[in-house]
Amino acid sequence: MSSQPLASSQASSGRAPELDAVIVGAGFSGLYMLYRMREVLGLNARVFETGDGVGGTWYWNRYPGARCDSESFYYSFTFSPELDQEWEWTSKYPEQPEILRYLDYVADRFELKRDIQLSTRVIEASFDEENDCWRVFTDDGKSITARYLISAVGCLSAANVPDIKGIDDFEGEWYHTGSWPHEGVDFSGKRVGLIGTGSTGIQAAPRIAAEADHLTVFQRTANFSIPARNAPLSAEDWADIRKNYPEIRRVLKSSMAGFPYTLTERSAKDVDDEERTAIYEELWDHGGFKFLWGSFFDIMLDLDANATAADFIRGKIRRTVKDPKVADMLVPTDHPYGSKRPPIDTDYFETYNRDNVKLVDIRKAPIAEITKNGLRTEDSEYELDIIVFATGFDAMTGSLLRMNIRGKGGRTLEDKWAAGPRTYLGLQVEGFPNLFTITGPGSPSVLVNMPIAIEQHVEWISDCIEHMRENGMRRIEANLDAEDAWVDHVNEVASMTLFPRANSWYMGSNIPGKTRVFMPYPGGLVLYGERCQDAVSKGYEGFTLQP
Ligand SMILES: Cc1cc2nc3c(=O)[nH]c(=O)nc-3n(C[C@H](O)[C@H](O)[C@H](O)COP(=O)(O)OP(=O)(O)OC[C@H]3O[C@@H](n4cnc5c(N)ncnc54)[C@H](O)[C@@H]3O)c2cc1C
Repeated sequence: MSSQPLASSQASSGRAPELDAVIVGAGFSGLYMLYRMREVLGLNARVFETGDGVGGTWYWNRYPGARCDSESFYYSFTFSPELDQEWEWTSKYPEQPEILRYLDYVADRFELKRDIQLSTRVIEASFDEENDCWRVFTDDGKSITARYLISAVGCLSAANVPDIKGIDDFEGEWYHTGSWPHEGVDFSGKRVGLIGTGSTGIQAAPRIAAEADHLTVFQRTANFSIPARNAPLSAEDWADIRKNYPEIRRVLKSSMAGFPYTLTERSAKDVDDEERTAIYEELWDHGGFKFLWGSFFDIMLDLDANATAADFIRGKIRRTVKDPKVADMLVPTDHPYGSKRPPIDTDYFETYNRDNVKLVDIRKAPIAEITKNGLRTEDSEYELDIIVFATGFDAMTGSLLRMNIRGKGGRTLEDKWAAGPRTYLGLQVEGFPNLFTITGPGSPSVLVNMPIAIEQHVEWISDCIEHMRENGMRRIEANLDAEDAWVDHVNEVASMTLFPRANSWYMGSNIPGKTRVFMPYPGGLVLYGERCQDAVSKGYEGFTLQP
């Protein structure tokens, strides 16, 4: 790696880049991208990763209760049948340490670590128009050139700590769930404040309540949640899963959302109350994402259809939570079910029946400041020893923008995306040649079981790079008209769904000042995959390839 000063360095004219590709991030995306570049294409790639270990999401999110909510045997790589046979998950929804062990195992199994540089953040990347390559700057003061820059920075990796007055004066400890200390946090005997009731807060609350002296949950938005019904996987389960893995994988890839569930062709409005309730009861007993992806086709399309599911869940919340006043606060009223990322839980609503748990509505009385001893809302003061921010991420664009990417003419990605992210197929951005974004905005990404979306993107990108090599091409860039048409298509599909009806992180609504635009592609994996394939079969339609 060359060490040149940040501002003055650039690849000199005609010089070949040092690497074929720089990949940023060593989670699911970065690991598989490296595997494809090296083992399938035989190229020279290096991964830079901020963390001092691989795993991405599962390296950072070590809070109590952190676990996947896609079933483990769907939430894993599918590219290696050998890996499928070697790895055995202990339960349907394993906790973070097990998922991290899996990703670490994958990195060792395919000898990926030798090309991964840990504890290194990419702080800037500039496109060198003369040499058709990227110069990538890292926080160790060095830089390197690569033909391709592949972002594997993750949709949920830029932690969002809200800007609350007084945080620096707090004399207790505070943590964000997305950058949890490796040594853990001891809650015993402590008064804990948990801010946020999205997927993470819902996972963490029961576990913190069980350990702490007292837990106060500060809720801005009441959320729908479905029980996970986690269970260990027995030897018989495994024999079954192993035998059926090829079929499981086939079904996942041909499904709407990367899960083996099918929406019925019936509308929720076309069945009578008794039958509909029986269907919801069965889905509730099954648990998990099947409630959303295995119910009626119009649940995310029609407000009245959605209301049948929402009312069913509201009824469950009311029956679970003993204090009717608390139940009232926990019943969601301001968004359709599924329009925010749907959490799944283990004893979340039951947690509010504990004597040591208090729920505070911060929509009614917002947080005014953090004090020396705790937190003050507009109508009360709470003494706390520990504050946990389960306040999520600057989703989908945060980590990409924090990389200071400069494309043609020195234009920054931040400038290009000032009115919201614009991509072609979520894979490329006009004005930023040879940059690929794995699960970028405008792709199914966070709306689906992510490893399936990640693999599809990685394979498309590596096939594209192979095509470029075979045809002597050095530059690929999305065309502006293709990008505009894709953004219009994403918006059009989104407007046919109920997703834009919530103030969600899908819309950027959790970050003050962020443009409100629906970022992921809601058309589903199959339709999306067809659009990507279609572009390829028409000679990379919508992209300009140059020798
Ligand atoms: C708590 C939690 C639970 C989840 N559960 C599920 C689930 O059940 N099902 C599901 O489908 N999805 C789930 N997700 C989404 C999850 O993010 C994806 O499934 C998947 O792990 C994403 O992998 P990735 O490699 O694309 O990104 P990540 O795993 O986020 O990895 C990105 C990596 O890039 C690194 N990075 C970022 N910027 C830079 C930089 N400038 N320089 C160097 N390195 C950088 C980060 O440090 C990070 O390690 C969950 C997310 C969270 C937070």
